Amino acid sequence: MSKPSSKTKDILQKYNFHVKKHFGQNFLTDTNLLHKIVDTAQVDQQTLVIEIGPGIGSLTEVLLAKAKHVIAYEIDDDLIPILQERITHRNFTLIHQDFLQSDVDHDILALGIAFTKAIVVANLPYYITTPIIMKLIEESTRLQEFYVMMQYEVAKRFTSKPSTKDYNSLSVFIQYKTDASIVINVPKHVFTPAPNVDSAVVRMRIKDHIERFPIDEKHFFKLVRNAFSMRRKTLANNLSKTMGYNKQTLQDHFTDLGFSPSVRAEALQVDDFITLSDILHKE
Ligand code: SAM
Repeated sequence: MSKPSSKTKDILQKYNFHVKKHFGQNFLTDTNLLHKIVDTAQVDQQTLVIEIGPGIGSLTEVLLAKAKHVIAYEIDDDLIPILQERITHRNFTLIHQDFLQSDVDHDILALGIAFTKAIVVANLPYYITTPIIMKLIEESTRLQEFYVMMQYEVAKRFTSKPSTKDYNSLSVFIQYKTDASIVINVPKHVFTPAPNVDSAVVRMRIKDHIERFPIDEKHFFKLVRNAFSMRRKTLANNLSKTMGYNKQTLQDHFTDLGFSPSVRAEALQVDDFITLSDILHKE
């Protein structure tokens, strides 16, 4: 990766902009990395890109050179005039809004343009990584892929496999809905200010076809959340305590599914959770 350029710092200085920690502002300084992200996302003239948190527009500029259109959501009042002055491309829509309050599908429709794919490319504000991803997955029906920079630790949780230390309810939820993998590892020194931890870009592809749906999705999510509620406890202990199931009945189900009665949640694959949710839901 190239040495961080001073362009980002020059722009911040020019506008006398003071970075706001509470908005998770860590601006990218490495031009090579910006290009690598956009190339990895295979942005082309038929791609509509959603960016969350454009900052001073470093990633936005690279996206705009390749994309059909970019819609960017920025919460910080002080960044709006900077973005308006710096980014004057016709294929750019800036929405001054908290992304968590937005209606992405509505905003895409309101553009009234044709495109072959709609994707998210963003260096996320880390304090709300999980709510942003949940919102994208739960609410939008128009987005196919996300390329999102997040803390490396969170990236590992999103992408980790059963029986590993990072596997948790979030991994199950993300992997139920998407194919997720880390595509770029990013060191902390390519940001200003540098965060305390390394980062990674995660690619999530919404599954066109979910192989198997639980009978009751809400019940499935509740079960998964509760299954991991106390990591050191067995699955039977967690589920009897949090959801009131009989411990012996749970253990019998685990044996029927090929697990030990003292199995822990991290041993179960997404599919096992669906099976268990369906059995318990019927009872
Ligand atoms: N994209 C820029 C870059 O890579 O240099 C900035 C990324 S910075 C990690 C996160 C950006 O998200 C900041 O511009 C911040 O103001 C913005 N932001 C924080 N919370 C937000 C929210 N709820 N909705 C929209 N933007 C938000």
